[in-house]
Amino acid sequence: MLSSIQKLSSLVKDALDIAKEAAVREKVLAIQNEAFAIQDTNFLLLKENHRLSERVKELETKIAEMEQWERTEAACDLYELAPGVFVYSCKETVSTFNQGPYFCTNRFHKKQKSILQNMGKYTNGTLYRCPRCYTEIMDPSKRGPGGFYQV
Ligand SMILES: [Zn+2]
Repeated sequence: MLSSIQKLSSLVKDALDIAKEAAVREKVLAIQNEAFAIQDTNFLLLKENHRLSERVKELETKIAEMEQWERTEAACDLYELAPGVFVYSCKETVSTFNQGPYFCTNRFHKKQKSILQNMGKYTNGTLYRCPRCYTEIMDPSKRGPGGFYQV
């Protein structure tokens, strides 16, 4: 009788051990699944962080370009080479040398500084051409000291 009770007790203990192992295995699987989910979330967050870092760099570059353009714009002014012939030029250069370089008004309004190229003097004036948009302007005046005036 005692032997049967001991055997029964051993069987119950074994059953409990198996049940504990199954419960532990189940918990381990749950923990692993949670770890994988955290890993996936972490990967997505890293990917989003990288995307946002790139966006920040892009915006910082854009801001730097805008600030640079604001400095350029503040350093320049619109001048009338001759009646009806407008160009942008640097205030300092104009005040010091009373001449260009001249910048294309089309490009300047698009926040680009494109120096008008002197294409030569012709009978009706000096021809300038923008290397970017190929706008041509003719300066019919005989430029010299005091030859152009600020608008
Ligand atoms: Zn142009």
